[in-house]
Amino acid sequence: MSFKKDDKVTFVIEDIGTGGEGIGKVDGYTLFVKDAIIGDKIEAKIIKAKKNYGYARLEKIIEASSDRVTPACLVARQCGGCQIQQMSYQAQLRFKEKLVDDNLKRIGKIEGYEFFPAIGMEEPFRYRNKAQYPVGTAKDGSVVMGFYAGRTHSIISCTDCKIGAVENQYILAVIKSWMELNGVAPYDEQTRKGLVRHVLIRTGFHTDEIMVCLVINGTKMSDKLKESLVGRLTEVSLDSDISTDKCIKSIMLNYNTENTNVILGRQCETLWGKSYIEDYIGDIKYQISPLSFFQVNPRQTEKLYGKALEYAGLTGNETVWDLYCGIGTISLFLAKNARKVYGVEIVPQAIEDAKNNAAINGIDNAEFFVGKAEEVVPHFYEEMARLATDTSATEAQREEARKSITPDVVVVDPPRKGCDESLLDTIVKMSPERIVYVSCDSATLARDLGLLAAKGYKTVKVQPVDQFSHTVHVECVCLLVRME
Ligand code: SAH
Repeated sequence: MSFKKDDKVTFVIEDIGTGGEGIGKVDGYTLFVKDAIIGDKIEAKIIKAKKNYGYARLEKIIEASSDRVTPACLVARQCGGCQIQQMSYQAQLRFKEKLVDDNLKRIGKIEGYEFFPAIGMEEPFRYRNKAQYPVGTAKDGSVVMGFYAGRTHSIISCTDCKIGAVENQYILAVIKSWMELNGVAPYDEQTRKGLVRHVLIRTGFHTDEIMVCLVINGTKMSDKLKESLVGRLTEVSLDSDISTDKCIKSIMLNYNTENTNVILGRQCETLWGKSYIEDYIGDIKYQISPLSFFQVNPRQTEKLYGKALEYAGLTGNETVWDLYCGIGTISLFLAKNARKVYGVEIVPQAIEDAKNNAAINGIDNAEFFVGKAEEVVPHFYEEMARLATDTSATEAQREEARKSITPDVVVVDPPRKGCDESLLDTIVKMSPERIVYVSCDSATLARDLGLLAAKGYKTVKVQPVDQFSHTVHVECVCLLVRME
């Protein structure tokens, strides 16, 4: 039987796609349906019909899946942020586990590893420490703040994102009324006029410090506007109906006059308070400025990196490489238990932050390099291999050179595309006893574990960690050991 656009169909969802969409079949014809979950019996309307499969819009739930819950957020369906809020948290975790396990087996042909249940959150809401609200103009001319609808740039009004901090809504309300009172126009992407583009709010979960940063389309703002903004924000009561010790410690402006989707420009100005806030992961302190990268779910990051530390099996004498190290979160986490840690990261500013974070924590056994890991590490390897046999160097220098390229542990935490194959080759040459692979994409993880298996590294433990509830993202930490 063939189907066409606008056909109405009734069927049961049997599977879930990598984007969280429900998948089911009608007379052998596969349909993908956003917002439907496994076990739902639904009525749907076909919106796109291809030869062998199609896409349909969920119209009615005839029988709800036993995993179905009412989303906490009223705009969960329109908003592009969460994909699976309608699934119970336990079902989300099971879905993520299956995704990782299936990919390792199917793509990587990996077997014989110990697979642990996903480490979930105690509270799967309010976990993000960073929110970036676009600001625009609603149809009635009022200021609107919220989120982009999935795959578009139209702003859905929503100032209380349920995965963000609860007090953000009060801060946004103050900024909105300040804009309206002072005639400050929101930015318009079409005309490129108007001032306020985004509001960035960052929160230190352990320190209760808050940073508010307005991203503006301009190169300056009048003193009068600055003063009134600071006046309003420093008076804001954050505990209207919640009890909180959180406090605004930093008010910043970020200048962005570019015609771009990139939220932040390069220049920042401190209007009031500090130019950064502080927070902790474990007992390591970090300084976070508007432009700094920082993990958005610090509680789960601590669990993820705690596992990485456990898998690294450090006793204090080890030499460790942390590749794709970002601001050095893992490096600094490991440094206290290792002899020496080397970090490599492509973004120079992140390495600046890593060095600064090492210094404020009194860590002096971590060394950082800027560059592509696949270039920096082979180059360093060649150079140190030469130094290790250089008779004009001292014995201590030769010994240090040898140790640096024969690490005990190599940790990698690459972006979604995974590791460069030439980097994996260099890691194999370095011959560490253990490799700890931290991944945010289980498909490329599986590919890389497959490559490493062929080169003598066996995957022995796999631990998914949920960093982003209600989304389809899943992080994973794996232990690989060298086979003699
Ligand atoms: N562990 C880090 C985050 C890792 S995210 C932390 O907790 O801060 C992946 C990092 O890899 C990003 O910081 C990204 O800038 C960096 N990166 C991307 N490609 C790279 C490459 N080819 N070489 C080195 N680093 C790279």
